[in-house]
Order: sequence, then structure tokens, then C-alpha cells
Amino acid sequence: MLVTVLGRYSPYAPVGGACPGLLVQARGVALMLDGGPGTVARLQMQVPAAHLTAVLVSHLHHDHIADLHCLQYLMADQAPGREPLPIYAPGGDNPDRRWLEPSSFGARWVRLLPLPVDEGLAVGPLRVTFARTDHPEPCWAMRITDGCRTLVYTADTGAGVDLAPFARGADLLIAESTFVAANGQNRRGHLTAAEAADLALRAGVGRLLLTHFLPSTPAAEAEAEARAIFPPAEAAVEMRTYPV
Ligand SMILES: [Zn+2]
Ligand SMILES: [Zn+2]
Repeated sequence: MLVTVLGRYSPYAPVGGACPGLLVQARGVALMLDGGPGTVARLQMQVPAAHLTAVLVSHLHHDHIADLHCLQYLMADQAPGREPLPIYAPGGDNPDRRWLEPSSFGARWVRLLPLPVDEGLAVGPLRVTFARTDHPEPCWAMRITDGCRTLVYTADTGAGVDLAPFARGADLLIAESTFVAANGQNRRGHLTAAEAADLALRAGVGRLLLTHFLPSTPAAEAEAEARAIFPPAEAAVEMRTYPV
């Protein structure tokens, strides 16, 4: 299983960067996790539109969904003969979910489905399960396994929910690290690098990748803070592909 970091910034993309998005590839399956600003262009550098299997949306904040409305046009233009692309997103009454609804034109290429947070999801050889995080908007962490290797993505979370049992023993944990100690005093629903490292340590994961940086958060500082607690930690690099 491979995971490519399409974007690592939030809540806006700095010059040359992109907001949260991951591409998971394993045995013929290509799963996009979240699709913030800038991620759909980068997705096309990694995988042809026809080969994208599904999109999973952790929550309905704009930095995670802004690019996904246009997937219907990408599919229509680049993969007109394919089956409709399933986009799984949390339900509820958030009007922002309508952003993900295909237009009457796009319904031929994209299908919006509820994120199956209770039962989980099987996508080819991959099994995905979900856990609610600590975030103002209902948000779901994802645990993805191919039966051999396991990836856990925290999506957006604060330290108010302990995700250690959910992330237990994962080979790779991709954790949000919006802040470092110096700028993380008034955070709500987000982690500092040290908190992400503490989660990795308690969950006994193999490696930790930090992401979801506020653009003014220095990634090198985040990496140093995390490594002091959990040495196999590193700041995610955009468009780098990591083996799980
Ligand atoms: Zn959020
Ligand atoms: Zn976010």
C-alpha cells in the first residue's frame, strides 16, 4: 500500500501548496481521502481519472472538500466511459454537503453516498473503518488495511477524543498537526505536533507523518517537537509517496 500526500496545509493553501488530500493506492485500487483546494490538479499527476476508485470525505469543512465539486467535470472530460465515481461523505444537515452533490449534468459521472461510519467499507482488497474525532464539525478518522499493512489517518481532531485505541499498531499514522507549542494556545478541534506524537507513542504505531499545517506553522519545528516524543516522526512532504 502506498500513500501520496496531495496537500498538507489548512485552512488555506500557501503559495505553491495545497490543502488536505491523500491518495492511497493498493493492488489496483486508488482511493482519494479528502480533496481540499489544489488537490485535484495534483491527483491527475498521480493517477488517470479513469483509475480513481472512490473518494472518502472525513468531514465537510471547506479545506477538505473545496476541489471535489469539480470531480464531476474531470470525470466527464477525462473518463467519460467510466462508472460513476462514488464520493462517500458524512451525512447530516450541513448545507455544505450540497457542494458535493453532482449537477444534473454530473450525475452521470459522480455519485454522492453516505460515509458508512458504522459498518465500514470494503473497496477492492482494502477495508476501511471509521472513528469519530474531536472536531466542531462531525469528522471521522479512517483506518485502512489491505490485510497486511495498515494506515490510519486522523483527519481533523483535537485531543478531546483519544484515538489511540483506533490507531493501535498501525504501520503508518498520518496525524494532523495544525500547530506547534508556540502558536497552539487557543486551538479547538486540532492538535499540536507534540500531541500528535503522544498519540503515535501511545498507539504503538510504526511511523508518524505530520500534516494539516497552518501555513504559518514551521514544519521543521513541528517535526522537531514530535521527534522529541516519538523519534520516527516526520513532516509530510507534498507530492511525496510513502510506503505504508
Ligand atoms: Zn476541519
Ligand atoms: Zn481541516
